[in-house]
Amino acid sequence: MSNASTPALKPPRDAGRRKIYPRTAKGIYTRWRWFFVFATQLFYYGMPWLQWGGRQAMLFDIEARRFYIFGLVLYPQDVFYLTALLIISALLLFLFTAVAGRQWCGYTCPQTVYTEIFLWVEEKFEGNRAQRMKLDASPLSWNKLRRKAGKHLVWIAIGLWTGFTFVGYFTPIRALAADVLALSVGSWSLFWILFYGFATWGNAGFMREQVCKYMCPYARFQGAMFDRDTLIVTYVKSRGEQRGKRSKTADYKAQGLGDCIDCTMCVQVCPTGIDIRDGLQYECISCAACIDACNDVMDLMGYPRGLIRYSTEAAIDKGWNTRQMLRRVLRPRVLVYSTVLAVAVVALVVSLALRTPFKVDIIRDRVTLARLVKGGQIENVYRLHIQNATEHEQTFTLAVQGLPGLALAEDVQPRVVLGPEQSASVPVQLHLPVDTVAPGSHRIHFVVSAPAAGTVSEKSVFIVPR
Ligand code: SF4
Ligand code: SF4
Repeated sequence: MSNASTPALKPPRDAGRRKIYPRTAKGIYTRWRWFFVFATQLFYYGMPWLQWGGRQAMLFDIEARRFYIFGLVLYPQDVFYLTALLIISALLLFLFTAVAGRQWCGYTCPQTVYTEIFLWVEEKFEGNRAQRMKLDASPLSWNKLRRKAGKHLVWIAIGLWTGFTFVGYFTPIRALAADVLALSVGSWSLFWILFYGFATWGNAGFMREQVCKYMCPYARFQGAMFDRDTLIVTYVKSRGEQRGKRSKTADYKAQGLGDCIDCTMCVQVCPTGIDIRDGLQYECISCAACIDACNDVMDLMGYPRGLIRYSTEAAIDKGWNTRQMLRRVLRPRVLVYSTVLAVAVVALVVSLALRTPFKVDIIRDRVTLARLVKGGQIENVYRLHIQNATEHEQTFTLAVQGLPGLALAEDVQPRVVLGPEQSASVPVQLHLPVDTVAPGSHRIHFVVSAPAAGTVSEKSVFIVPR
């Protein structure tokens, strides 16, 4: 997990499960976490309902083998663009992790976001941390049953809505909603709604920090992207120690104490149940709840804020201020990630800009390579497969280039009209006057163009027999 230049991420101390009852934190970072909860959920739940040109704006229609992303329609042969998008996302995550550590985990990861929402629901039904602990320790009663049942009903409703939305990215959500209301939803859709709903309920309601600790692959390899200049949540040991209780008015420095009053608030708010004062740990998701909690304590005691703070190992060791710390953002590792990312983004944008929204495939007739037809012409036969990948009707014009006198046969229709997202296979005969070129195989080009979609030139060969 760690290397010479990487902060030591301590592995989980034990694999046993101890239920964690996080106390609710208040402060700037908690507000930011809730901002991201709203932003991500607005996107996730809202996007499938957004319409674009009379259809769902974002739809990965696996059955029809088409992906719709606003104005873009991608087909299986466009897998390059999806691969490029995945590579860019991975590079973005590498870059972000090298600079900002595990902020993705702390603020926007679905596991964190749903755990936050589920904890909020739990608190509404079962009360604050102390009340929840008391309720769990109490024998079964009507009050306990009522609170637990209410909580689970809301959790299940959120889980099912999440599952329904997930399926709505792969099948038109309005039709799916109508099917659900009519109780006639297909078996696969129903399976995935229930599966995803169950996963949400289980992961956010029960597994919680266990997912981050033992299941998340990102948590396993993010140490390789960390270095001493990566932003982490850290406890300033030199300032906090010797920790110990004291009265607010005591001259604690005279008693040999540091700023940590050992109130354990930072531990109580931690969703992964760790004590950040033990140093950077594998379980820390950088959510900054402990920063908010400790800042509150510092305010109460009249001490400066920032005993626990976002900083870097190098900044803490060398006593750098924020400006000195920020200067280290542009370091070789970050520049390499940024360059590779910029190249990948430019390549994707350029290839999308140059993409013609129709495809042409040419297949030569393998039975008759070439034959003589009336009028002293050599005939070669082809089949043109044209796919209109736009969402509008297109008129495609066929032409051929490459040999003097080469032309479409008289009975070939030089225009093909295709409806939105339609494809057609068109037989095409080419004629060339005899003795125009030497016998053999000659490179030619089919040129297919549509006024609103551009031009595609596809190469093929014309055979002149001996
Ligand atoms: S919240 Fe701050 S003062 Fe309290 S134990 Fe944690 S580090 Fe010490
Ligand atoms: S130690 Fe602090 S930042 Fe890390 S997970 Fe716990 S509360 Fe969040």
